Amino acid sequence: MKVLILGVNGFIGSHLSERILREKDWDVYGLDIGFDKLGTVIKNPRFHFVEGDITINREWIEYNIKKCDVVLPLVAIATPATYVKNPLRVFELDFEANLAVIKSAVKYNTRVVFPSTSEVYGMCTDEVFDEDKSNFILGPTSKQRWIYSCCKQLLDRVLWAYGFERNFHFSIFRPYNWVGPRLDSIAASKEGSSRVVTQFIGNILRDEPIKLVNGGHQKRCFLYIDDGIDCLIRIIENKNDACNKQIINIGNPKNNITIKELAVRIKKIFEKHPLVKSKRLARKVRIEDVSQDQFYGEGYQDVTFRVPSIKKAKALLGWAPRYDVDTALTRTIDHYVKEYLENSKRCGKELR
Ligand code: UDP
Repeated sequence: MKVLILGVNGFIGSHLSERILREKDWDVYGLDIGFDKLGTVIKNPRFHFVEGDITINREWIEYNIKKCDVVLPLVAIATPATYVKNPLRVFELDFEANLAVIKSAVKYNTRVVFPSTSEVYGMCTDEVFDEDKSNFILGPTSKQRWIYSCCKQLLDRVLWAYGFERNFHFSIFRPYNWVGPRLDSIAASKEGSSRVVTQFIGNILRDEPIKLVNGGHQKRCFLYIDDGIDCLIRIIENKNDACNKQIINIGNPKNNITIKELAVRIKKIFEKHPLVKSKRLARKVRIEDVSQDQFYGEGYQDVTFRVPSIKKAKALLGWAPRYDVDTALTRTIDHYVKEYLENSKRCGKELR
């Protein structure tokens, strides 16, 4: 199988490529603006990489869509702070650029495996979110936070319509707060610019207070990246066409904790970490409350809880997540501490 991954150097793209090349005999064709997360993958003879931009390298993309069996358009901005600060960038990249990719895939009849998002459910009040039954509840237009949700929702619907009217083959997956190594760049994780787990890890490493938006009472289900990739590979494989025209949640309903609890657990893992020489580092980090307006600005609205139904992933793919929250966090923290220490050594700094 020939798999085309646009945004191959991202969090999902880099882990997916690594696993495909290790476990399958498939070829990966990848495009990205960078390659810093790809490690040794880049040297694999079954990995064909081009440095480029999905809004510019259109001919390369079209040629490879025609050649490949499946395309995963993974390029997107997926950080809430950017939805609020630069909603147009989110629209142009997440919606416009990806619509062009989908249209090209339809033209050449190349299957699309599309990353939707748990954000599409918005402030849905269902206890667990069901792919085929739950309603989407978004806030008013003046709350820019929902532009990402809305962009993804419309692309989901466009794919659905191509499937309905033209029998186009697609599968949609919805990640729920996946965490793991390479999630965001700690160096770039200025306030609000990365997802919550990397934000808190960065806060501790930089000796800044951890900030709990609205007291951190909101809950999220965290899924370890290896579990997510395990499910995604089964979707790409698509045995017996099981995932054709299906929407599949990928999350871990058992790892459902408040953001406050997340902060406490991350702090505890740091305190016990063998590479963090002085335990003072984590202990002296303060945890403070902050209002959502102060942290994100007026265009933000939060999601209080978000629990996936994973019945469908189990039924169609025989998949279930394996990693609990503490394992997921420990492995993620391990990666960032090691990376931080290597960078600090290069700059002649020590971790206090
Ligand atoms: N959050 C927080 N402090 C931070 C960053 C995020 O309390 O430094 C909260 C945020 O308001 C949200 C949750 O953590 O309720 C998860 O945020 P994330 O950016 O990971 O994305 P989301 O799950 O909202 O898509």
